[in-house]
Amino acid sequence: MPSTMPKGLIFDIRRYSVHDGPGIRTTVFFKGCPLRCSWCHNPEGISPEQQQITRTRTVDGRKRAYQETVGKWFSPVEVLDILLKDRVFYEESGGGVTFSGGEPLMQPEFLNEMLLLCKKEGLHTAIDTSGHATGQIFNRTVKNTKMLLYDLKTTDNKIHKSFTGQDNYLALKNLLSLDETGPAVIIRIPVIPGFNSELAGMEDLCNLLAGLKARVQRVDLLPWHGMGHEKYRNLGMAPPPFQGNGSDDEYLVSLIDLFAKGGFNVKKGG
Ligand code: SF4
Repeated sequence: MPSTMPKGLIFDIRRYSVHDGPGIRTTVFFKGCPLRCSWCHNPEGISPEQQQITRTRTVDGRKRAYQETVGKWFSPVEVLDILLKDRVFYEESGGGVTFSGGEPLMQPEFLNEMLLLCKKEGLHTAIDTSGHATGQIFNRTVKNTKMLLYDLKTTDNKIHKSFTGQDNYLALKNLLSLDETGPAVIIRIPVIPGFNSELAGMEDLCNLLAGLKARVQRVDLLPWHGMGHEKYRNLGMAPPPFQGNGSDDEYLVSLIDLFAKGGFNVKKGG
């Protein structure tokens, strides 16, 4: 009998990850994202289709270029088999599984199947999301996860649209719809020079989060580190337009201070 299980297009599965939620985790990277953030560190996750990327390897002391396909279709059970290999590490470290991307909410049937399978196995789950999905998909999915890593960018819709290609309406509406029955939330704010590195804009984000304080476990500030240009080139894409980095110490200290005064547990980095 043919399987009716949805398949998911995945571009990476990273074991022993320590930056995508609590403890030691396996992170599953979904391919496809509705946003086009100019600073995206995972440009291979943006297209919802398989792609060719140019890689190099050294053969007999000489570098050779070759083509590789990015994105592979998996059934939920195939992914679960990989996740279960590290159960002992999750249990010892208070870790689990993180679904990232790309945007996991773009493949809602596969994602929800994965969340239910993980729940049955007693695995802690987190979803790393921009929140850009319909309310119906968002509400159905958040019921099935323990944690959200919610990427928040700016409250200014005009700036948001010009740097990501999408309005921020869905992301803000879904975030504000979370109540005390929902999953724990870690807010992740990329700090990008020339995009949201103005203190006034960060104050607006801090004020927006005030109503959600009970659900927000922590605010992570993620300074732009200017990496990933090579990936863009290898995919035939234009590289990010930003120069420098967002980790200017003085500015980051002022941001940490801002969110700490707002009553948040705040941390630099993921
Ligand atoms: S939301 Fe994340 S994955 Fe999607 S384009 Fe932006 S940075 Fe990249």
